[in-house]
Amino acid sequence: MVRSGGQSPWVLLDLDGTVLDYDRAEREAVLGTLAAASLPADGDMVARYRQVNARHWSALERGATTAARLRTERWAELIVEAVPEREGDVDLAALASAYVAHLAAGAYLLPDAAEVVAELAGTHRIAYITNGLADVQRPRLAASPLADLGEVLIISDEVGAAKPAAAIFQAALRAMGEPDPRTVTMVGDSLSADIAGGRAAGLPTVWVAPAEQPDPTDPALRPEHRITTIGELPGVLRG
Ligand SMILES: [Mg+2]
Repeated sequence: MVRSGGQSPWVLLDLDGTVLDYDRAEREAVLGTLAAASLPADGDMVARYRQVNARHWSALERGATTAARLRTERWAELIVEAVPEREGDVDLAALASAYVAHLAAGAYLLPDAAEVVAELAGTHRIAYITNGLADVQRPRLAASPLADLGEVLIISDEVGAAKPAAAIFQAALRAMGEPDPRTVTMVGDSLSADIAGGRAAGLPTVWVAPAEQPDPTDPALRPEHRITTIGELPGVLRG
């Protein structure tokens, strides 16, 4: 770590899959939304929702749809695919807003995340960077103990660019007051979004990934450090 002028270095943390448990929040939000609309609410529907949602998010990343369309069209597609007999009598706008409300309430932390970020806040300045919808991510972070520990929250929906795009990392560095990128460690669970984007922006990177995931072969995706859980992060940052 490079320290500049006695100022604390920054840690730039991805939220979902790194410190927040998005899988659980999403599963509970999908089940709650479907049950409230008297639609089948089970693991199969959650799996189908995830497939449909992933297609819409990759379309959004390609610029082939908008965040506003994604909100309702993912539900329209799920209904047509899984329960076509209900297509005519489901209020898609109501489903979409119920889902966002459920999801926004799902501020589940991953194990050790609160303790680790609290510990890091003693030696580092904390910033968060996340690909997602502002009205989902802002309340989720706000409802967690992580909110008070961070100084910056950058959300792709608000910036108009998603990781790994250079624009979102530039927005984060601006919000941090333009520190030397070499003093800002990017920590995340996604090689393509967090590690590739962080590296391209000149940030040292830490990849959080289960041990069974193979190391990336592409040098552009290779992090400075890899850890299996967030609990190992303070040790890595102490170097
Ligand atoms: Mg993530």
